[in-house]
Amino acid sequence: AEEKADVDKWVKGACRFCGTGCGVYVGVKNGKAVAIKGNTDAKTNFGFLCVKGFLAFKCMYHKDRLKMPLVRQKDGKFKETSWNEALDLVANKFKYLRDKYGKDAVAYYGSGQCTTEETYTFNKLWKGGFRSNMVEGNPRLCMASAVAGYVSTFGSDEPMGSYSDIESSKCIFITGSNMSECHPVIYRRVMRHKMKNPDVKIIVCEPRRTSTSKIADLWLPNDPGTDLAVFHAMANVIITKNLHDRDFIAKHARITTGKDVVDFEEYKKFLAQFTPEAVEKLTRCPADHIVKAAEWFATSGATMSMWCMGLNQRKRGMWANNLVHNLHIITGNMGKPGADSFSLTGQPNACGGVRETGALSHLLPGTKPVANDKWRAHVEKAWDIPAGTIDPKPGFHTMLMFEKLGAESDAEKPVKGMLVSTTNPAQSLPNLNKYIRGMQDSFLVVLDIFPTRTTQLADVILPAAFLYEKGGVFGCSERRSQLTEKAVEPIGQAKPDLWIVAQIAKRMGFEKLIPWNGNDSMKANEQAWTDYITVTKDTEHTLWGATYDRLKKEKAGLQWPCPSVEHPGTERRYVRGLDPMFEHPAEKGNIPDSAQVYFYADAKKEGKLNLFLRPYEGPGEMPDKDFPFFLTTGRVVEQWHTGTMTMRIPEIARTHPNAYIELHPDDAKQLGITAGDMVEIVSRRGRSSMPARITKGTLPGVAFVPWHDQAMARMINFVCNDVVDPDSKEPEYKVAAVRINKISGP
Ligand code: SF4
Repeated sequence: AEEKADVDKWVKGACRFCGTGCGVYVGVKNGKAVAIKGNTDAKTNFGFLCVKGFLAFKCMYHKDRLKMPLVRQKDGKFKETSWNEALDLVANKFKYLRDKYGKDAVAYYGSGQCTTEETYTFNKLWKGGFRSNMVEGNPRLCMASAVAGYVSTFGSDEPMGSYSDIESSKCIFITGSNMSECHPVIYRRVMRHKMKNPDVKIIVCEPRRTSTSKIADLWLPNDPGTDLAVFHAMANVIITKNLHDRDFIAKHARITTGKDVVDFEEYKKFLAQFTPEAVEKLTRCPADHIVKAAEWFATSGATMSMWCMGLNQRKRGMWANNLVHNLHIITGNMGKPGADSFSLTGQPNACGGVRETGALSHLLPGTKPVANDKWRAHVEKAWDIPAGTIDPKPGFHTMLMFEKLGAESDAEKPVKGMLVSTTNPAQSLPNLNKYIRGMQDSFLVVLDIFPTRTTQLADVILPAAFLYEKGGVFGCSERRSQLTEKAVEPIGQAKPDLWIVAQIAKRMGFEKLIPWNGNDSMKANEQAWTDYITVTKDTEHTLWGATYDRLKKEKAGLQWPCPSVEHPGTERRYVRGLDPMFEHPAEKGNIPDSAQVYFYADAKKEGKLNLFLRPYEGPGEMPDKDFPFFLTTGRVVEQWHTGTMTMRIPEIARTHPNAYIELHPDDAKQLGITAGDMVEIVSRRGRSSMPARITKGTLPGVAFVPWHDQAMARMINFVCNDVVDPDSKEPEYKVAAVRINKISGP
């Protein structure tokens, strides 16, 4: 029906919700976006969209759109001002703070929802201009454990394969992901594959019996935060039953504790404590389910794992990622179609924008650490800045940055101001009570398209353009960069982030570093993109061949590594003969089962990947007498993150307007709660209240709340735990111990 919609033109782009990266066409009529349809040539979605992508244009013209810069006055109220005045104010204040308190006085906090060009430019200005590594982004809250997992196991970030592995797999292991709601178009591919091939086994490992697990052949329930033991038990069964791939392990793996290299016998001995029966007692995952899952995983011939926040947002998120990779290593499930250890990304451009451009406090473009002398020198040369400009010391990770922002004394508070772009930390950080004051007490500049909980705390609000009003590149979960063309003019006086950052750079004397400050957004995008891909040349993450011209022509974008303009992009990494980092141009065609697999991990030394012996460690807090329930949080299919956009799409807003708590019937009975009762959820950090839903879809003792609700009383992040993974620094949103009390009847 949308194909026949009355439009003047269809403009190619990508969806701006979720990391699937669905290709779209935006329908334009009389200069306005009036429809969206799926791009049938896009290899991510083949024309299919979920409700969010289909209706995205509807929020663009909502009456709440920010249309003018706003500056807070002495009386606390906001006043509209001109762009010149607002930008002068921001640049002067940034200069003042930097001169008075040092180069790290102003931080940048970005988003996996900015375009790659925007994030790259913010990162370049901060690290190459201000000489500050106080650069973070919300992917720290969702993907940092996946990054740390890939880098520690393989030596290189991001998945080895592609979504196309789904259609080749014989067994799909979904863990820590409610894919049917959070990545519905990928879930559709899984579902279709299962329907066409009933012998394909689907295993879902989750504390909740979600809609994803409805197609599962096997559900592995477990208490939140205990799945490390389940993964170890699966490895134990695989090895005990002699189902492991000895040759693969011997040829490609080095077994390590992270400190010491150990032999296979020691690994086997370590695993022996994780018998299915012992792990059932620890996790509530039935022993016979563990055995069956292990057998299917090891014997399918091609097993693909997929996971998302359930593994990442954990106190031992990196270890959880390592242990899933372990299952692939010991069974040789990699380097061939359908065998893949694949982390799904939450946001549309967390991979392309933040991970690949290195817009985190410890990284540089090309996903290499700031502490790496050689790489700093490479980036300084590419940016034409003096040697020694980039600080080798990482800045603060996200939680520390916001904590320091609220410190009492000047000495403890090196960060005095912050520029926040396209994200809403005043709603999305865990343990919000601890962090809101810092945002209130510092000089806060927020770029967004709508008023949010964060703009309420801002000193300056800068109205940003929506993706289809500016264009730019997004890189999705499968290493694929896709270009969105500008479809319409921005509403009111809204401006692209790229223009805003370039104007701030110009006012602060960094025009040479960031020269793309013109009004033509697609031209500026191209200049920034070209600058960026030059830095990635000759790295394993190279996008050197993915020029803007090519991205405009390619209907499905390009996957890195893409080392030359002739190169087709890389569907599957680590396969000799197909991976351009080893031999290029890459051969095309199917990969034979006998393909020789090769790994980057310490490739210069041994070319081996790391099989980790990680001890079991539970979540940061377990239920006890005072807080007897597990709480876990997540998304629903219609709503996106903090609901700032999706709650302004009427058709979607109607579906789940308010948060709710899901309780098992046994718990509800014990607490005297019936459906619709108002309940209070209390943790050691804060409280929240909302109506109850009763469902057998969760384990007794485990409660679930979606986190999109903007009402202060129902914002569940006041309750969530902010303990961070010591390696990835990602907080443990997924597990908190809580008390639940009935407040009143329906
Ligand atoms: Fe957009 Fe994700 Fe839905 Fe695709 S699955 S249309 S990328 S929200």
